[in-house]
Amino acid sequence: MGTLSGSRIEVRDLGVRLGEAEILAGVGLSVAAGELLAVIGPNGAGKSTLLRAIDGLLPVRHGSIAIDGRPVSDYRRRELARVVSFVPQSGAPADGYTVRAFVEMGRYPHLPTWSGLTSDDRRVVDEALELTETGHLAARALTTLSGGERQRVSIAAALAQGGSILLLDEPTSFLDVRHQVQVLELLGRLHRDGGYTVVAVTHDLNGLVADADSVLGLVGGRVACSARPAEVLDAEVLAGIFSSGFRLLPGGRHGLPVVVPARGER
Ligand code: ADP
Ligand code: MG
Repeated sequence: MGTLSGSRIEVRDLGVRLGEAEILAGVGLSVAAGELLAVIGPNGAGKSTLLRAIDGLLPVRHGSIAIDGRPVSDYRRRELARVVSFVPQSGAPADGYTVRAFVEMGRYPHLPTWSGLTSDDRRVVDEALELTETGHLAARALTTLSGGERQRVSIAAALAQGGSILLLDEPTSFLDVRHQVQVLELLGRLHRDGGYTVVAVTHDLNGLVADADSVLGLVGGRVACSARPAEVLDAEVLAGIFSSGFRLLPGGRHGLPVVVPARGER
């Protein structure tokens, strides 16, 4: 898979309502091509909703979302799917597909109606399996995979889709340490070496957040902070986002501190 030129995401003053509830209000963000944005915040803050909005899956009630300067609402669905891939929380669904069949579905936005995969499509699928180190699983049923394998297969399907923007919802949640590290390394390769623009919702403050170019903190559907990891990995800033105490220790990634929850402190 060659290096992509990436795509730029620009969200301005975004407001989203679901039913009667205002889920997002006044949300702005900007991700340059090839950058990694980590989105953090407590449960229910609107993080998943923000990803779905960027993927064009929700009506934008207020404000705008643009990719490479063009409003998401102007893209046809298939066209947007060739630019943006969404990896939902806990990865691929566990129904009756093999790994290969599931990753091949990533190519659908590229296929003319009623036609099958070409040899070029199959090559892209093979590359996606290789890049995510899931080639050995190709014939396996999705239901037989571990959480870490399923997460990597989901990312493979997203890569097969061929876009330059990856949206990931808690890609390392529920994974053991080794599989967390594997996914972090994969995301690092994709955005640093591969040129992918990545937006990842995460609770992994010491891993994914530390690796990010910038961090957006959401609280109650609003932006609580938007800054570099070095500014966000701070006891006071994190307490403001999570309403919980933190302590900082030396020795984190990229010279950043390690943050740990401080029990009984605020
Ligand atoms: P997060 O991913 O940060 O945990 P979500 O984006 O999933 O948060 O949800 C944000 C809020 O929106 C929550 O309070 C949730 O209950 C609410 N919500 C999500 N989907 C709907 C819906 N379809 N209708 C009404 N409220 C919803
Ligand atoms: Mg969520």
